[in-house]
Amino acid sequence: MIAPDWRLQALPGVGERSVQRLHRLNIYTLADLLLHLPIRYEDRTRLRRIADLSAGERALVEGAIAWSEVAQGRRRRLLCRISDGSGQLDLVFFNYPPKTAERLQRGLWLRCFGEVRAGYGSLQMVHPEYKRVKPGDTDRLSEALTPVYRSTDGLHQKKLRSLVDVALELFAQHGQDHLDGSMLPESGWPGLLEAFQQIHRPSPETDTQALLEGRHPAVQRVAYEELLAHHLTLRRYRLNLHAAATAPVLDGGEGLAGQLRDTLPFELTAAQLRVDSEVAADMAQPSPMLRLLQGDVGSGKTVIAALACARAIGSGYQAAVMAPTELLAEQHWRTLSSWLIPLEVELAWLSGSASTAQRRSAMQSLAAGRAGVAIGTHALFQEAVEFFRLGLVVIDEQHRFGVNQRLALKEKAGSVEPHQLSMTATPIPRTLAMTIYADLDVSLLDERPPGRGEVKTVAVSSARRDEVIERIRGALLEGRQAYWVCTLVEASEELDAQAAEETAEELARELDECTIGLIHGRMAAAEKERAMAQFAAGEIELLVATTVIEVGVDVANASLMIIDNAERLGLAQLHQLRGRVGRGSSASSCVLMYHGPLSAVSRQRLEVMRETTDGFVIAERDLQIRGPGEFLGSRQTGDLGLKVADLSRDKALLDTVQRVAGRLLTEQPDVVEALIERWIGEAQRYGQV
Ligand code: ADP
Ligand code: MG
Repeated sequence: MIAPDWRLQALPGVGERSVQRLHRLNIYTLADLLLHLPIRYEDRTRLRRIADLSAGERALVEGAIAWSEVAQGRRRRLLCRISDGSGQLDLVFFNYPPKTAERLQRGLWLRCFGEVRAGYGSLQMVHPEYKRVKPGDTDRLSEALTPVYRSTDGLHQKKLRSLVDVALELFAQHGQDHLDGSMLPESGWPGLLEAFQQIHRPSPETDTQALLEGRHPAVQRVAYEELLAHHLTLRRYRLNLHAAATAPVLDGGEGLAGQLRDTLPFELTAAQLRVDSEVAADMAQPSPMLRLLQGDVGSGKTVIAALACARAIGSGYQAAVMAPTELLAEQHWRTLSSWLIPLEVELAWLSGSASTAQRRSAMQSLAAGRAGVAIGTHALFQEAVEFFRLGLVVIDEQHRFGVNQRLALKEKAGSVEPHQLSMTATPIPRTLAMTIYADLDVSLLDERPPGRGEVKTVAVSSARRDEVIERIRGALLEGRQAYWVCTLVEASEELDAQAAEETAEELARELDECTIGLIHGRMAAAEKERAMAQFAAGEIELLVATTVIEVGVDVANASLMIIDNAERLGLAQLHQLRGRVGRGSSASSCVLMYHGPLSAVSRQRLEVMRETTDGFVIAERDLQIRGPGEFLGSRQTGDLGLKVADLSRDKALLDTVQRVAGRLLTEQPDVVEALIERWIGEAQRYGQV
């Protein structure tokens, strides 16, 4: 605990209005206040000579008012010149209370802080902070640098600073440091209290740049403890989950699963067999499965989902399969229908475009227990879908389950908690996965199904665009299909859509014998689907697309992809896009067309893409080149709710986090609880199943 009462309301001078404002900054507890790090520092520890000032810096100065006047110009303003003997400085006020002009009289000694600007013939400060002091009274200068925080309307820096002061004080009185030197990655790091003091009240000689960039040991110390607390929450959650007997034992489906395996048009790979048995073992337990299946694009995750569904159904339960988009849901519906209907399993297709009557009949069949599998988008499942006996939920192309999603599903399943299988094509390096998915069991499909053509990747300068066009013509003449991906040019979807339209028109002129389609983010869902469906049916030969092309869409005949301006994309996106080709048996190619000159990082990326098609290798290289930000995307890291730590910057801490977490969980459960309570606060409900 930081203090006997860690709620903001308990602080002196904090009323309901301030609490609201603090909430806007995501500050809910005293701990949050301490984790709200300064965005810059101001030096009010020493007075500067006016003669030494230069425009652009922020400085503390003192001087006597030489004269002051209200200037009537285009805008009325109060001008006030001060002098400290070394030089003169003008203070300028545009908006000021009426009394101010009277008060700032000649002879008065002022201390001012503000940004120095070049004025007319002299330096000036516009709207400086100022106060009246006695000349030469330097005792009252700050001893530490002054922090400036991100704030919100109505919440002044002074208020924030004084709240942080109180929080520091309470922490000094009541806060405990739970981590001794043996639990830290480096010796010589400050204790927690000291770390907070160094961050919020740094001494004048502190390397503030290191503080702001998070390299300073004080910030590292806090980031480490935050990561540790998050990791502990996830691990404790998993331990509790495994100990709970709230899920149905689904061990009666081996017969149906076996039938499915026998009727599949292919043999399962060794990796698929292994993952299938991992899933089967989980489902046979009375504690809910929470498994993440990672498998590169095309590694064959759908069949794993189908087998899991068969096991649920064979055990007398139902399964739900969710996809992020309507298009993917439909693809699953087609695939699963072709595999499961022959085994006399009824499927309920909760299509967004189906008629009300069709929807109603699908829902009835689910509620009555006739349908064994429900398929739809995530959004559809948030509506009033009722199950007879839901035992398994499969979530495609999503990294992790949101807490709300989990709770909603639990409700749908009634008194039991369904087993959950989440599938993602985004490969995540191991250390990272172990830290951020510590609440999940992870399975890996690390083998490509046989009979796939390799994807050959080349990087070509846009100067050779004509050759690329000829290459497309050749492929289309052979009856193949191709993608032309337009990468983001502008931050605006509108302009990008426009650019894609123009490219499509241009290509239509250059390849006038070909059928060209277009898909971009500004099209209505139905239009997009129509274009995708036509492409899948072979009616469109060349599909011009922005980077919106759906994850997971499978058009086996598409064997050529051009990525225009490939240097603009990160490795994760390039890899995902390239995964759209190479799904059939013919050899495929990916042309990375770049506009030079290339930066060192872009060059490295294109090289990695040429060298390998293995998503995990690419993820590792990406991590080396520029940290995990890209592969994880801000949404996923944001989900974790980290305030100080940054997975990319602080990846070196992760090994120790895992090791120490393991030790604490077995040896010091009281410390685990204390850390979780301190840092996770509100969110800790998540940790209690
Ligand atoms: P993803 O992991 O990207 O979701 P899919 O499940 O869509 O991959 O599988 C991609 C393609 O590979 C599908 O056409 C699927 O039927 C096929 N496939 C899956 N497993 C095998 C296998 N063991 N042998 C041959 N083809 C397979
Ligand atoms: Mg898939």
